[in-house]
Amino acid sequence: MQDIRNIAIIAHVDHGKTTLVDKILHLTEIFRDPEAQSDLILDNNDLERERGITIVSKNVSVIYKGVKINIIDTPGHADFGGEVERVLNMADGVLLIVDAFEGPMPQTRYVLSKAIQLGKKPILVVNKVDKPNCRPGEVQEDVFDLMFHLDANEDQLDFETIYGSAKQGWMSLDWNEPTTDMSALLDMVIDTIPPPEVSTGTLQLQITSIDYSNYIGRIAVGRVTRGSIKPNMPVTLVKRDGTKEKSRTKDVFTFTGMGKEKVDEVKAGDLCAISGIEGFDIGDTIADIEDPEGMAPITIDEPTMSML
Ligand code: GDP
Repeated sequence: MQDIRNIAIIAHVDHGKTTLVDKILHLTEIFRDPEAQSDLILDNNDLERERGITIVSKNVSVIYKGVKINIIDTPGHADFGGEVERVLNMADGVLLIVDAFEGPMPQTRYVLSKAIQLGKKPILVVNKVDKPNCRPGEVQEDVFDLMFHLDANEDQLDFETIYGSAKQGWMSLDWNEPTTDMSALLDMVIDTIPPPEVSTGTLQLQITSIDYSNYIGRIAVGRVTRGSIKPNMPVTLVKRDGTKEKSRTKDVFTFTGMGKEKVDEVKAGDLCAISGIEGFDIGDTIADIEDPEGMAPITIDEPTMSML
């Protein structure tokens, strides 16, 4: 079975998320087309650019040392509709990117606090250490203090930190010792983020986001938590209110690079996109045809305003 890591990125606007993911993609040779090499990837949504917020969550996937790493984009803003939790719940850990000069910003506290409440362990990326007057050591301590304040547990407070310059394309355990690429970060992801926990049983996949395609229409996106899903497979759509509808998958995709690839099967632990399911909503469960069991909605307490 494919070794997988699912990791969500949390970053304040301009702290370097796009540049970092771009460099990871380059390292893992997703770009074979030299023309594409200068294009940045995560930012192709103009509306998003204009508003300075993430509207559509985009997943990027790379294979590194035989391990498939799904990188999940989180909404960069506070929303109170449960979107942040759903997206974070697709991941088993988070990459927290923080500017080595600016330090952690109030706007990322909300998403970080959610990640901590959901039990996700972070890897701290102190980025932009090439900047004059940067203060990587202090920023690391600021993040520790912030996490302590947000009630992180001992294991979460024992987070790994990596330093580097996404712009220059390197990450290192020591900001005084630059490396030549992003491999130290990817090694850290593989070594410290747990592989997906997979429970046994029939198919379960909670729909966490929706993709659109002019050709295909609405595409359900989520993480297979149990069983496996295949194309043209009869399934039950369990709505959030518990009602059940018979349905059938059409195509089934996994994420590869910055796109999607049609596959014959997606197994528990991996992220998946599915066409053909009619009338679904976010939070519904795609379940077995004979043994349909819905998944509980993801709800956790809102952080108190004093924490934000
Ligand atoms: P995002 O909004 O988090 O996706 O940030 P971007 O990746 O778009 O980066 C924002 C700006 O910071 C751009 O001008 C980048 O070139 C710059 N940037 C990103 N990483 C670094 C870095 O490591 N060092 C420096 N000096 N600038 C960086």
